[in-house]
Amino acid sequence: MAVSFAWGGINGTSGRTSAAVMSRSLRVQFGFYKQSSTADGQTALVVGRLQKRYSSTGTWSDTGQTSSTAATLFDFRINPYSSSSTMHDVSVYYRLVVPTGGVIGRGSVSPQIRVDYQNPSLYTGWKRSLYLDMRQFCPDAAIRGLSSLPVAWAAAVTPRGLYEIDVLSSDRVTMTASNQKAMMLHECGHHLQWQNYGASGTGWNLMSQQATKIFGTNHSQPIEHMADCVSHAAYSAGYLGYGGVCTTTQLSYAARILAGKELY
Ligand SMILES: [Zn+2]
Repeated sequence: MAVSFAWGGINGTSGRTSAAVMSRSLRVQFGFYKQSSTADGQTALVVGRLQKRYSSTGTWSDTGQTSSTAATLFDFRINPYSSSSTMHDVSVYYRLVVPTGGVIGRGSVSPQIRVDYQNPSLYTGWKRSLYLDMRQFCPDAAIRGLSSLPVAWAAAVTPRGLYEIDVLSSDRVTMTASNQKAMMLHECGHHLQWQNYGASGTGWNLMSQQATKIFGTNHSQPIEHMADCVSHAAYSAGYLGYGGVCTTTQLSYAARILAGKELY
């Protein structure tokens, strides 16, 4: 059998770079093609070895972790990088290698991904404050500080499916502590919208349909209103960034999201 990798991505996305909290595991997928002249070859187990390196030109080494599949998709979790409270931030590149040998007549090497690991134990100042605002519900979302995005309309964004919340550091200056907390819980709500539905595009579509039914009754942007109500369910003193009102029913659905469940 010949194997050839076609794509790779982080947590159900096609994204190959994410910040992440180093004490948490990380879901990744790598897809490949199989070529085989026999039926047995088509169903044979393919084993991939996870390798890492510390720079884009560094030397690859085995992590000791492997993943196997009889299909054409490796879907697995990279073990937590470190649970040490004093380990400093580090970027790690990963790839999967299927070596040539045995049933594998021709192996392959996956595209690489890059994880910018952060240690929230070492967060200080505004970053620590932002993380603590939402840690109870989204401990696996790292805070990435950005300065290059437009600041007029938002103070934070959550790239769909990645393990990070990007914060526009210039905006926090004018934001009260209460509004900041509401904002971070709103972003955490977006993170959970992805996570609670299986971390996939299919799950996101289902979530969108359910959000329209429940949060579209009194708002024109159901997904944003849902994130606002998730924030409000966690912290009732906070403001709703997208305005409007969260009904009692909407708040009870939002509480399900905070509990790690789907809306229904
Ligand atoms: Zn939003």
